[in-house]
Amino acid sequence: MQALEICPLSGATVVDHEMDNTVAGRFRKARRMMREAGFEMGGDIQVVVDEGLPFIGYTSETRDGHLIVVSGFAARSPMLEGLLIHEMSHIYRTMRGHPSHDRGIITEVANSLARQHEVSKEYQGRILHQVINHLQDLYADDSVIRVFTRNQRELPSMDQLADFS
Ligand SMILES: [Zn+2]
Repeated sequence: MQALEICPLSGATVVDHEMDNTVAGRFRKARRMMREAGFEMGGDIQVVVDEGLPFIGYTSETRDGHLIVVSGFAARSPMLEGLLIHEMSHIYRTMRGHPSHDRGIITEVANSLARQHEVSKEYQGRILHQVINHLQDLYADDSVIRVFTRNQRELPSMDQLADFS
């Protein structure tokens, strides 16, 4: 879907792809921003909206590629591109086999920590999972910062970031 605008000077109808506010259009824009910052995202990446999702979003691996699931709230937020770039950065690290996103290494580290610190209760396991996730976020956000540094005009404001958390 393309958004149409009437040019105030000429009265002509202008097709502006950057005005495509569908989730698909905003995903195309986010993918373009990644590419322009040097992160070529090959492979199959699908984006779906889950209206009932209680948090902003996540990514999972599928048989053919990756699936990004965003909440209804995130899909309507001006921060959607930022979220999609964050999720694609996880995918990029996974595809490149970065140690922070290597399932074998993560499992080994998690099991080792669990043994050393006698993690046996469910809540302890959840905390350990969150610790690993925060670590992965640091590596993902390295790419996010590079993408937004290259696309300064797309940089979210601090107010937007605060609203989104
Ligand atoms: Zn993340």
